[in-house]
Amino acid sequence: MQYNRAIYKQTLFLSALAIAILTILVGYSWYWNSKNIRTEKINLALAEARANWNKDAAFRRWVTRHGGLYVKPDARTPPNPALAHLPHRDVVTTDGMKLTLMNPAYMMRQMAEEFEKDFGIKGKITGKRQLNPINKPDEWQLKVLNIFESGKTDEVYEQQIINGQPYLRYMKAMYMTEGCVKCHGILGYKDGDLRGGVSISIPLARYFSAASEANRGIALTHLFIWLCGLFAIIAFAWLLERLLLRMADETLRDGLTQLPNLKLFKNRLEQSIEKYRRDASPLFAVCFLDLDRFKNLNDSRGHKVGDKLLVALSQRLSKLLRPGDTVARMGGDEFTFLLNNLNNVDEALNIARRILSSFDKPFRLENDEIYTDASIGVCLMTEQYNNAEDMVRDADIAMYRAKASGKGRVDVFNPEMHEYAIETMRIENDLRMAIQKNQMEVYYQPVIDVEHSTIYGFEALLRWHHPEIGDISPDRFIPVAESSGQIKKIGAWVLEQACAQVREWSLQFCPDKAFFVSVNLSSIQLTEKDIHETVKDVLNKTRFDKSKLHLEVTETALVGHKEQAKEAIENIRQLGVSISIDDFGKGYCSLTYLQDFEFDTLKIDKSFVQDMSPGGKGLQLVRMLMLLARDLNMEVVAEGVETVEQFNRLNAMKCPYIQGYYFSRPVSVEKTRVILEQGAHENVSVLLKNNNLSLASQNTG
Ligand code: C2E
Ligand code: CA
Ligand code: CA
Repeated sequence: MQYNRAIYKQTLFLSALAIAILTILVGYSWYWNSKNIRTEKINLALAEARANWNKDAAFRRWVTRHGGLYVKPDARTPPNPALAHLPHRDVVTTDGMKLTLMNPAYMMRQMAEEFEKDFGIKGKITGKRQLNPINKPDEWQLKVLNIFESGKTDEVYEQQIINGQPYLRYMKAMYMTEGCVKCHGILGYKDGDLRGGVSISIPLARYFSAASEANRGIALTHLFIWLCGLFAIIAFAWLLERLLLRMADETLRDGLTQLPNLKLFKNRLEQSIEKYRRDASPLFAVCFLDLDRFKNLNDSRGHKVGDKLLVALSQRLSKLLRPGDTVARMGGDEFTFLLNNLNNVDEALNIARRILSSFDKPFRLENDEIYTDASIGVCLMTEQYNNAEDMVRDADIAMYRAKASGKGRVDVFNPEMHEYAIETMRIENDLRMAIQKNQMEVYYQPVIDVEHSTIYGFEALLRWHHPEIGDISPDRFIPVAESSGQIKKIGAWVLEQACAQVREWSLQFCPDKAFFVSVNLSSIQLTEKDIHETVKDVLNKTRFDKSKLHLEVTETALVGHKEQAKEAIENIRQLGVSISIDDFGKGYCSLTYLQDFEFDTLKIDKSFVQDMSPGGKGLQLVRMLMLLARDLNMEVVAEGVETVEQFNRLNAMKCPYIQGYYFSRPVSVEKTRVILEQGAHENVSVLLKNNNLSLASQNTG
């Protein structure tokens, strides 16, 4: 997954950076500490050098003040030949002990020798002029003597390697005192003059070994700190990565169903497209599923039930798909599937059909059982697609087509659908102003009373004369009005037009026995809580006889929100208005609807009427439907009667009411008035005569 990879990379980079910073910090601290320890050890050596110098100076002062010391002469301290000129160089004590005089320089030299032998510390008095050539300065001492002479400082130290060993060389200036003048006066020194300096060399090896020991401790401590830091960084990076992955996962999942969301779906789809284009991997498809009438369920049963249904649905869908496929929720009641590794189109269609047939089983939500249905659009990958949006859009378009062609269906996208979708958008847009712009017109199709050969009433059918597209069929724009929420306004307008118009004709042409009018109600109108109020208002406003109003509902309008529809129908019937079941037999043809709802009229769908060839099933079905209607105390209207044969057969079966092109197409108000003026309401032969006269040129207008 791309997101995961990005997170891995980011956390890896962050941890590497943190480890680098930790290493630099710990390393610097270690370096700084060990440097400090070395400096501290050098300072200690310096202190030792100073202490030595002080002791040396104190001795020197002491012996100088006393001018010398008598000792027993032996191999180490033989009589000093340099003092041979002194008569008292060698003395004998009264008890006969021989003593010889040691001058301060001699003594100091010997002590220095002892000191070096025992402790490795070198000491030497030196000056630019000297009595004893042993005291001649070496190169470094000469350099320091020059510094002393310059007066910049009277103390200098420096690390040096002597005979392969590290030493701290220290030298401090010495000035002439009264005692010194006695011996060194001959070199031209006066009291207070810079006489030279005493140089002390402290061996550094033991200081360095102490420093190394301390350093080892410091190194171990730092290694420990570094390891702790490393552990902390790794642990933190691990936690961070998990957190980021979880957060990323949450932003990629739908909160309600936990299915992948649109973003994740598109991401996966993009990968499939990429793979397909790169190495022509197997075919794949995108399906778009939308629940039919989910909004009704949400409105009638509440959002909680709606949410539960979506969760149950998401679980069902996940189980139905193959491993490797993706099901995602786009939002609302829309789901998408990515079907990978298909061999052909049929495979995608089979999966889609399998999903749709799973809707035969109800969804069990606690103590509720809910039946619902869905429409699926399929979009197959082709060379033309190079982004996820286009595929999802086309699957969506195909889904709309599936819905428009009767819900509970599957449709596969083809390019014409794209144009269709664009036209739908235009229709939706232009529909908003269609009534105001006088583009809408209600047409009327007479319903014939067969026994009396009269016009019994009319069905009101809406027409839209679009100035650019031309006449648009209600089958085309009514679903758009439904889905865009405009049907309420349009429906109420048709109802009012029809009631007002038919009342006017009744008053004018048959005041004793008024015409009825049938007005179609859309499924969306059936879910309006106040639909009966709207009907009541129109009845009041137009003063139309309520018993002459029939509202037609289709079976499909009842599916999915039975309870709501039942309530609406009962409320309307209580007003005294009749309800017809329209297109009966065309859709679900579930006889239980006839049991559950109270209808006043059954309208036999034109598909049955037009299939009434002798011996055909249609004939028997129509007969059966008529019997059924009679048993249930319903009126029967046969729709779509186009030919004299169809009419004769229905007549033979004693079908009481007939509607169809055989008598008249739906026509405008003006044309209806013309036929009424001709007396068609009293004798329908006028209609037949009209038809025979102008059958060839007749159209819906
Ligand atoms: P519907 O309610 O079944 O209306 C009957 C349809 O059959 C009408 O189509 C009518 O012109 C057509 N028809 C009538 N006699 C014959 C015939 O002998 N042969 C054939 N082939 N067709 C015949 P139309 O007017 O195009 O309306 C189509 C559908 O649009 C209607 O079907 C109805 O469901 C819907 N509709 C029309 N007006 C309205 C309206 O105001 N509100 C609502 N909600 N739906 C409407
Ligand atoms: Ca109808
Ligand atoms: Ca019908």
